[in-house]
Amino acid sequence: MSTVPALEAVSADSGFRRTEIERRPVGPRDVEIEIDYAGICHSDIHTVRDEWGGARYPVTPGHEIVGRVRSVGEEVEGLAAGDVVGVGCFVDSCGRCEQCTAGLEQFCAEGVVATYNTPLPDGTTTRGGYSGAIVVDEHFVLRVPEALDPARAAPLLCAGITTYAPLKRWGAGPGRKVAVLGMGGLGHVAVKIAAAMGAEVTVLSQSLSKQEDGLAFGATDYFATKDPATFEDNRGRFDLILNTVSADLSVEDYLSLLGVNGVLCSVGLPTEPYSVRPGALVGPQRVLTGSMVGGIPEHREMLEFCAEHGVEAEVELIGAEDVDAAYDRVVASDVRYRFVIDVTRGLG
Ligand code: NAP
Ligand code: ZN
Repeated sequence: MSTVPALEAVSADSGFRRTEIERRPVGPRDVEIEIDYAGICHSDIHTVRDEWGGARYPVTPGHEIVGRVRSVGEEVEGLAAGDVVGVGCFVDSCGRCEQCTAGLEQFCAEGVVATYNTPLPDGTTTRGGYSGAIVVDEHFVLRVPEALDPARAAPLLCAGITTYAPLKRWGAGPGRKVAVLGMGGLGHVAVKIAAAMGAEVTVLSQSLSKQEDGLAFGATDYFATKDPATFEDNRGRFDLILNTVSADLSVEDYLSLLGVNGVLCSVGLPTEPYSVRPGALVGPQRVLTGSMVGGIPEHREMLEFCAEHGVEAEVELIGAEDVDAAYDRVVASDVRYRFVIDVTRGLG
């Protein structure tokens, strides 16, 4: 057992305080990682502020982790002290069920163990990357390609895989018109990945304030969703809309932008139900679907893809004392484009 510094929230409105948490002893299949960077995902905020229900305080979030291997258990092969590695949204699963054996650990029949806020049989709850170190089963530890900057790679462990998986599944590529709805942490990575896949990419953002950036990330068009003309001018245009918006929105308005067989895939997780008339789906045979991160093999593929195509997140590095203010800025869509905690500043 080791004790490491961490941030924790003790209630929905407590904000963060510095604390010490326990990490388990390094087992035969474990990798002990000294954390350098932890991205701030909007899911951290939904959890900490208990917007989804089920927060198990104290909560130490963080599932966009990059660091260096400090030590490995005796059965671990292929990883050694000093290697730059990442950990994403989950850290364990049964490893035997149909989903796990298919490399879709996020859908483990026995329940995937999330990197934070999952109760464990010993009565403790998993604690995430806003901390000095973490001990993780080797299966869930990803090697970060050398071509990627470690701080800018951290957000790929959630924002990257969450957007890569559905973009690939729904055929983003040459000749396909893809719209990315919401250009925050997930959205800006989605624009880069979809462009690297060869798709024609349009950004649908609340305003035009980030237009220059969106075009630099690889989009060819950029529209403000607060302008009603956006919905008139783009009616029936897209093959795929990837919805990364963290807030409730009128899904039907966006379905109208899809052509025949068009797909609206949501990864954003606000709390209110969607309201959709059957006719909005049936007539043009549209698909309304969702996507949940990705499996471990697809994480490896995504990291290689990003290394090959130079896809990294745009990050603002902050110290441990800045996290509360960063949360407010994320909620206000005032982030360019991912806050990443430099764990050595205040937690190392
Ligand atoms: P984020 O950085 O806050 O980005 C969300 C974007 O949504 C904002 O930048 C903004 O884009 C848009 N937005 C925010 N409030 C809005 C409003 N009231 N109306 C319209 N648009 C609004 O969040 P994120 O970290 O990318 O996460 C996005 C969502 O994905 C969250 O709900 C998160 O929990 C979820 N998520 C899901 C998965 C999964 O596996 N499915 C994984 C990770 C995260 P513009 O400024 O461009 O308008
Ligand atoms: Zn996330």
